Amino acid sequence: MIKGERKRNPADVSVRESRIHGQGVIARKGFLKGEPILAIDDSDPVVDRSKLTPEQEIFIDVFVASDGTQKTTWMKSPERFINHSCEPNAYVVTDMRSGVRRTRALRDIRVGEELTWDYALNIWAEWIGPVPCHCGAEKCRRVIQGNYFTLPREIQRRYLPLLDGPFKKRFRNEIQSLNLTAKPDAD
Ligand SMILES: [Zn+2]
Repeated sequence: MIKGERKRNPADVSVRESRIHGQGVIARKGFLKGEPILAIDDSDPVVDRSKLTPEQEIFIDVFVASDGTQKTTWMKSPERFINHSCEPNAYVVTDMRSGVRRTRALRDIRVGEELTWDYALNIWAEWIGPVPCHCGAEKCRRVIQGNYFTLPREIQRRYLPLLDGPFKKRFRNEIQSLNLTAKPDAD
């Protein structure tokens, strides 16, 4: 639970028309690689997911919380407008002590750049889809399927260091059985 909007740093970003899809979240300042961008507001739980319409499903988030439980929440602005990219510039890191999830810069981000994350990170078979991807990245996978375990193997390997703590803990066995570190490849 986050106390006070000010801690979320929403002033560092703004919601504007996106080049990728609909509205997006644009950086109003530069961020260095690894820098926290925005704390995610996880304070509004979805009580009964089975009652949601497909239109409502778009605005929920399903994740493993710091206590190891599965949580389903209504995504709040601005983070609900962060678009998917197959070459994202941000990712999510949970503070294991406070439980607060934060988006962090995956690389240096310039003022005016749109923030993106990969919807397939830290997610398993809980996501509705697949849907076509129009992210425009050079290595676009053409589809958003929202499941780490069904990603191409080389992407699973590249994302391994980016997986969030609670997800790694809960799916330790499943991740191990992917055997991703056994044969490191050239990338
Ligand atoms: Zn894409």
